[in-house]
Amino acid sequence: QEKLLQKSEKLALLGQMAAGIAHEIRNPLTSIKGFVQLFKSNSQKDEYFDIVLSELDRINGIVGEFLVLAKPTADIFEKQDLTKLINEVILLSSTQSVLNNVEIAAENNLHAPMIHCEKNQLKQVFLNIIKNAIEAMPGGGELNIKVFKKSGNTISIQFIDQGVGISEDRISSLGEPFYTTKEKGTGLGLMICYKIIENHNGRLIVESKVGEGTKIEIELPYEGDSIHAEDDQNGNIVLI
Ligand code: ADP
Ligand code: MG
Repeated sequence: QEKLLQKSEKLALLGQMAAGIAHEIRNPLTSIKGFVQLFKSNSQKDEYFDIVLSELDRINGIVGEFLVLAKPTADIFEKQDLTKLINEVILLSSTQSVLNNVEIAAENNLHAPMIHCEKNQLKQVFLNIIKNAIEAMPGGGELNIKVFKKSGNTISIQFIDQGVGISEDRISSLGEPFYTTKEKGTGLGLMICYKIIENHNGRLIVESKVGEGTKIEIELPYEGDSIHAEDDQNGNIVLI
């Protein structure tokens, strides 16, 4: 219990820091990148500019993972159509998924319920998770997104990939700031996800088998009115 508290306090502090830093870095970064691209097109020294550009992209990636937390406006929690949110994020990820031969399938989310959430934050969570899933399948594959109703007015959103997987001893490190196994990773994506889901009174659960794939499950509370559901064979309740 004590350890959990410390972890979430640290995350809160980090979130506040991130907000300030990301905001300050974004604008100058964008203008520097523009100038470098301009110089590059007028120069012989291509490789130097490529290094500068790729480092700028790296900074941009780090800042990008913090972006929703960096918004100066207050969080707006309101009822949102989960189906619509998921579809928007799939569309946003489509360039990356197509380039990496990853097919994103989201068949049973057509009648997902309305949920009370901060739209941009939740989209950032979905984006970060989908990005990780695509990166976990370097040879391509399928990413399944499923939405289930669970008991106790909980909605479960599952992202199931066929990627490299995560060994058991590494699962507890997920969400620690800067924990990454990727050469160009930031190790911030999941930390942000945990923080946002915590903000929504939800849970993020990771299940994985090395060499088989990973399931990232997000549980969120919702108001369980007008929702149609039935049992599937696995004891999950499928939205119909
Ligand atoms: P990054 O993607 O920049 O490395 P994240 O916080 O998004 O940072 O993820 C941290 C680490 O968690 C990744 O480096 C990777 O080792 C592991 N990981 C996350 N999602 C998956 C996944 N779907 N499949 C395999 N490993 C994953
Ligand atoms: Mg990531």
